[in-house]
Amino acid sequence: DAKHRRVPHCVYDAGLDRHSRERLALYTELSHAIRDGGLTLYYQPKQRLSDGRIVGVEALLRWPHPQRGLIPPGAFIPMAENSELIRPLTAWVVDAAIRQLAAWRRDGIDLRCAINLSARNLLDPGLVEYIEVALSRHGVPATSLEFEVTESALMEDPNAALACLLRIHALGAQLSIDDYGSGYSSLGYLKRLPVQTLKIDRSFVSQLSVSQPDEIIVGSTITLAHNFGLTVVAEGVEHDADRDALIALGCDVIQGYWLAKPMPAAALAAWLAARVTT
Ligand code: C2E
Ligand code: CA
Ligand code: CA
Ligand code: CA
Repeated sequence: DAKHRRVPHCVYDAGLDRHSRERLALYTELSHAIRDGGLTLYYQPKQRLSDGRIVGVEALLRWPHPQRGLIPPGAFIPMAENSELIRPLTAWVVDAAIRQLAAWRRDGIDLRCAINLSARNLLDPGLVEYIEVALSRHGVPATSLEFEVTESALMEDPNAALACLLRIHALGAQLSIDDYGSGYSSLGYLKRLPVQTLKIDRSFVSQLSVSQPDEIIVGSTITLAHNFGLTVVAEGVEHDADRDALIALGCDVIQGYWLAKPMPAAALAAWLAARVTT
């Protein structure tokens, strides 16, 4: 829907210092990249531990910049989040991920794709509309989508977040809490939300096999989440030992370099095909 992807204008101000001018240049370039299809999505698979199945992928934004190379999202998403750009950016991500899901479905690849949302997206009354528009444009069911929302984004405006999540849930998409454990939200608050999944923050997973406190935190989080009927995903799984510890603690799904790094759509399809034949 072109209306939602309209990019705001920016005016050059000669009074700015060098740092501000660079930021403004990056901002302007980003707005053009959103408008002109200069962004791309990488996909990282998630694996269910009980049977080894790939249960979905997470879409992760990349900006292939002509001079600066492949820019990671941490270098430009905060700028978008602090401006009006986050809306056209997210609308582009939603449309691109759903278009890719449709292409995979035509090739017989049935995956669920997770999309990251920022705090500001949850305050946008147009969000659910542009998700629906993209789903119907590409003929993909909402059940193929999942949205990941961080604890801290939820806590910025808990009532608005709840209202937004209820609308997304009503569409039929899945919801997960991202970076769980990195903020201060209580499961008491989270249990009011229509979420199905907790993603345990990488900071707890990376030390799991050598840190007893992390093992206790992750173990009790998994138990508590299961008591609430939630699925638990561990992110940032890099080593055999992390995976072994997560299996022992009853974790449901893993994501991380141990399984695969984020990759372009075509590489993901090839990766999936290679797994089937070996
Ligand atoms: P996130 O949602 O927590 O995504 C996980 C990050 O961890 C990704 O970084 C991923 O590449 C990285 N990662 C995955 N497995 C491993 C591992 O085993 N070890 C290590 N060290 N890292 C791993 P990435 O792609 O740079 O994304 C960073 C953050 O940018 C994301 O964190 C998310 O908050 C944000 N982001 C990415 N794409 C989008 C998007 O489309 N929209 C929004 N709003 N945010 C996005
Ligand atoms: Ca995420
Ligand atoms: Ca995360
Ligand atoms: Ca994160």
